[in-house]
Amino acid sequence: MTVETLQVPVYRPFTVQVSQVERLSPSFVRVTFTGPDLDECAPNGWDQRIKVLLPIPGRGLADCPSGADWYGEWRALPEERRNPIRTYTVRDWRADLREMDVGFVLHGATGPASAWAEQVEVGDEIAIIAPNARFPGPTGGFVWHPPADASPLLVAGDETAVPAICAIVESLPAGRRARVLMEVPTAGDVLPLDAPDVVEVTWLPRWPADAAVPAPRGELLAAAVVAAVQDLTVAAAPGTPLDDVDVDAGILWEVPEEDAVPTRSSGPYAWLAGEAGVVKGLRRHLVQEAGLDRTSVAFMGYWRQGKISD
Ligand SMILES: Cc1cc2nc3c(=O)[nH]c(=O)nc-3n(C[C@H](O)[C@H](O)[C@H](O)COP(=O)(O)OP(=O)(O)OC[C@H]3O[C@@H](n4cnc5c(N)ncnc54)[C@H](O)[C@@H]3O)c2cc1C
Repeated sequence: MTVETLQVPVYRPFTVQVSQVERLSPSFVRVTFTGPDLDECAPNGWDQRIKVLLPIPGRGLADCPSGADWYGEWRALPEERRNPIRTYTVRDWRADLREMDVGFVLHGATGPASAWAEQVEVGDEIAIIAPNARFPGPTGGFVWHPPADASPLLVAGDETAVPAICAIVESLPAGRRARVLMEVPTAGDVLPLDAPDVVEVTWLPRWPADAAVPAPRGELLAAAVVAAVQDLTVAAAPGTPLDDVDVDAGILWEVPEEDAVPTRSSGPYAWLAGEAGVVKGLRRHLVQEAGLDRTSVAFMGYWRQGKISD
């Protein structure tokens, strides 16, 4: 690698403007971003993650880092001048139009990202940290990479994973079978999804139209994942004992290495993301009880109830 190559950051900040806002449902808003240099951004598709840096009331993006060492710049600032950083998924990407769609879950004004998304208007400005097209190597930032012969596929998550799951489903090669489970807040949050016939999609609204009260968070998803795993009849090996993960002290992020070879030949592959406590419970079930191969399952705590994601 040359010195020039090493100086090109893998990810870099882009200042973007909101060009469209579409309220998709009670809990989802789709925000389209555009920017003069957004064609220099190179998302990889699937569940590609990015960072968003949100404006500070009264200061906007005045202190927002802009250089290759954006994180160092950000950390060097006094805390009150650091723009809040949160992680989101590229839902859709149109390079020719320099447009990127991001799906925000609206969970009230309890966090800067949700509060921003509740009030977003065309013309608003934020910064994103996204893969740099000028970087000569792989830019990563996505987890979905099942082995070509992995089967069946299980993709499951809560509302925060819906943008990633929808992007994954829409990009599956023709004929690739998958079981998809998405828990969402209400019946009105079931979104249109262009899924191939061989992909079985189940939406799990916590608050269906005919219910007096909502189901507890994660309950429907956990039950559906457990049932789906039974259907997959994959418990061919005894379960593996697991180390405990403290989801309040750290991040639950246990994903197969990109080039990891599953320890069993062509078996199932599962991708699970959502509230960390719920994902932790599923991790225990899938690995310890159902005996899924850990090299074939991605477990991702996308957020933690009662904890800010900074
Ligand atoms: C790889 C990755 C990809 C992600 N992609 C998306 C995405 O595409 N769309 C999306 O909406 N989210 C996504 N998330 C989740 C998002 O980053 C978190 O929900 C984040 O906490 C939102 O920030 P905030 O400023 O709104 O709330 P925070 O300031 O982080 O939290 C404030 C409070 O709100 C609670 N909270 C956070 N999120 C929710 C929620 N969804 N429902 C109820 N309470 C909540 C927290 O527990 C806390 O009590 C992703 C996370 C990861 C790690």
